[in-house]
Amino acid sequence: MVKTMRGQARITESNVQDMLREVRMALLEADVALPVVRDFIARVKERALGAEVATSLTPGQVLVSIVQKELAATMGEGVADLNLATQPPAIILMAGLQGAGKTTTTAKLTRHLIERRKKKVLTVSADVYRPAAIEQLKTVTKQAGGEWFPSTGEQKPRDIALAALDYARKHFFDVLIVDTAGRLAIDEALMAEIRDLHATLDPVETLFVVDAMQGQDAINTARAFKEALPLTGIVLTKLDGDSRGGAALSVRQITGAPIKFAGVSEKIDGLEVFDADRHAGRVLG
Ligand code: GDP
Repeated sequence: MVKTMRGQARITESNVQDMLREVRMALLEADVALPVVRDFIARVKERALGAEVATSLTPGQVLVSIVQKELAATMGEGVADLNLATQPPAIILMAGLQGAGKTTTTAKLTRHLIERRKKKVLTVSADVYRPAAIEQLKTVTKQAGGEWFPSTGEQKPRDIALAALDYARKHFFDVLIVDTAGRLAIDEALMAEIRDLHATLDPVETLFVVDAMQGQDAINTARAFKEALPLTGIVLTKLDGDSRGGAALSVRQITGAPIKFAGVSEKIDGLEVFDADRHAGRVLG
C-alpha cells in the first residue's frame, strides 16, 4: 500500500475506529437517538472501509465527506413540496404533540400555498379541548391570507372535519388544512382520535410536525405517530433555536417519511423547504 505524506492511502479498520467514535459523539451531542446513531455508524463504516484516499486528503477528511454524504442522503430523500395531486380539495392533516408548532405551521403552509402555488386555502381546527387553539388558528389564518372555518369545543372532531370538507367542496377550495389536537405526551385516546380523522378525511398529505428542540425524545413521538398514521411528510420546527437538529435524522429514520419543510421562526413566513445538505453540516457541528 502506498503511504502518502498525509496519512494512509486507504481507510482501514484500525484508522476508522477513532474517527467513528468522534462522529458518534457528534451525533449524540446533536441529540440523534442512540439506536439511530448505531445504525448510521454501521452504514458509514461499511462505506468507509476500503475507500480510496486521494493523496491530497487525510483518511479523516475522506471519512467526514462520507459521513456528510450519508447524513444528507438519509435525511434528504423524497419529494420536498406538498403533494396536491388529487381531486380538490386536497386535504392536509396536521399531526404532532401539543406545542410542536402545528397551528403555526398550518398558517405558514397556508401562506406558502397561496403565494407559491396560487391556491385557495381553507383551514379548520379539530382541537375541541382548547378553545384558545381554535382562536389562534383563526388569527394566524387571517394573517396568512387564507380562510378559516369555524368550529367549537362542543363538536366532535369528525363532525368538524366533515363540515369543513363540505364547505370547501361547495366553495371550490383547492386545499383544506385540518389542524388537530395535540397532547403533551403520547396518549392512546389522542391517537384513536387522529386515526379516526384520517379514516374520515383520507388526506393526500399527513404531516408530522415535530419540534427540533425535542432531542432524544423525538424518536418515541415519531414512532407513536408512525404506528398510528401513514405519514407522508415531516415538518421540523424551531430550527432557529440552538439545537443541532439531530431529531431530523431520528425522525426520518423512524418514520421513513421525507422531511418537507423546516420552521425557522415564529413568523408566518418562517418556513423553508428542508435542505438536507445544509442540515447535515449543522448536525455534525
Ligand atoms: P401546536 O400546539 O402544535 O399547535 O403549536 P403552536 O403552533 O401553537 O406553537 C407552539 C409555540 O412554538 C408557539 O409559541 C409558536 O410561536 C412556536 N413556534 C412554532 N414554530 C416555530 C418555529 O419554527 N420557530 C420558533 N422559534 N418558534 C416556533
